[in-house]
Amino acid sequence: MNSKKSLGILEGTDSSHYLTPPTFSPLNPSGIPTDPQNISNKSNLENISKDEGESLDSLQVPKILSQYLKQQLCYDVLPISFRAIVLDSGLLVKKALAALLQNGVASAPIWDAAQQKFAGMLTVADFINLIQYFYQHSSYTEALEEIEQLKIHALRGIEEQLGVPTPAIVSAHPLDSLYHASKIMIDANLQRLALVDKDSQTGDDVIISVLTQSRILKFVASNYKEKKLFCQPLAELKIGTYKNLATASMSTPVIEIINTFVQRDISAVPIVDENNIVLNVYEHSDVMILAHEGAFYDLDMPAEEALLRRPEDFEGVHTCRLNDTLLSIFDTIRQSRVRRFIVVDSDDKLLGIVSLSDILSYLFISD
Ligand code: ATP
Repeated sequence: MNSKKSLGILEGTDSSHYLTPPTFSPLNPSGIPTDPQNISNKSNLENISKDEGESLDSLQVPKILSQYLKQQLCYDVLPISFRAIVLDSGLLVKKALAALLQNGVASAPIWDAAQQKFAGMLTVADFINLIQYFYQHSSYTEALEEIEQLKIHALRGIEEQLGVPTPAIVSAHPLDSLYHASKIMIDANLQRLALVDKDSQTGDDVIISVLTQSRILKFVASNYKEKKLFCQPLAELKIGTYKNLATASMSTPVIEIINTFVQRDISAVPIVDENNIVLNVYEHSDVMILAHEGAFYDLDMPAEEALLRRPEDFEGVHTCRLNDTLLSIFDTIRQSRVRRFIVVDSDDKLLGIVSLSDILSYLFISD
């Protein structure tokens, strides 16, 4: 069996569609993997900092970049032309989910038309709640009937029944600094933050756009020119999680993975084989596909089967090695729609996970 194909992984001679090859570090341009435990790049790194007449202490990059984030406005991150998808709180959840999937977005701001107010974000967490609720409380037919009627504003009732906290309604102003917005996102563990202005005449809210951690990092990666600051390898920076990793196998039932998402407050679980070699990743966006298909009755299906439901244009899984530099990480963020990096060794064995929030938190120093 061609396992990669059967998992819905993009085909092609170039494996970079799936497990990206280690990115070529500027300190290791040959691309020949170095032993992560014995980073021979270190001497090059020392040369670079000596050449530049300055030393790279561990706080230097975050200090400089936090300063940079203070000088930029959320407004600066917005492209010249963009669309904002806003969902009316009276919309059926079913239609909202279809709209998100059709537009390739994982969340959208909710608009309370009666009060002319921003009413929070509809996110994958809502669909996870929904799935857990129906899995626990209903038969398949009941679930189908209920979901046909369910409107966005009624999701809060589901949270109450599940005993999960109601998400706070948080936003930033487009003219707030990126530093301020990053602080809100890091403190509240948010991947997305609505940018909301006020109508000067009516005082009503005006939803402008949604700022994501990914957009902030893409902005830094594209605009911050002092590339020499990013030459340290991951092994030195210690960005990411390397211990107590949550993983699953191809045979793990999807409901178990979804429960892990909730219990560990994470958005992806690497799928590994018996040798800890990374085969794939099951992630939040995969849950949206299940919810859209109404697969509440079928959550005992193995991860392998659930992964087959991915769309053709699935971006793939981005991997990196401990000797990759922040510069090569930023290059990938700039060029693709990366959600996280799975850190592997030269045999593709799992070592760790670097999420976008890990990178943003690293760049950020709280005042
Ligand atoms: P998103 O990927 O939705 O943008 P995020 O950037 O907050 O969210 P998460 O994947 O939720 O990233 O990760 C939150 C924290 O948990 C990070 O510190 C990350 O390193 C860690 N983490 C992520 N996945 C796992 C996992 N499978 N096992 C252990 N820790 C993980």
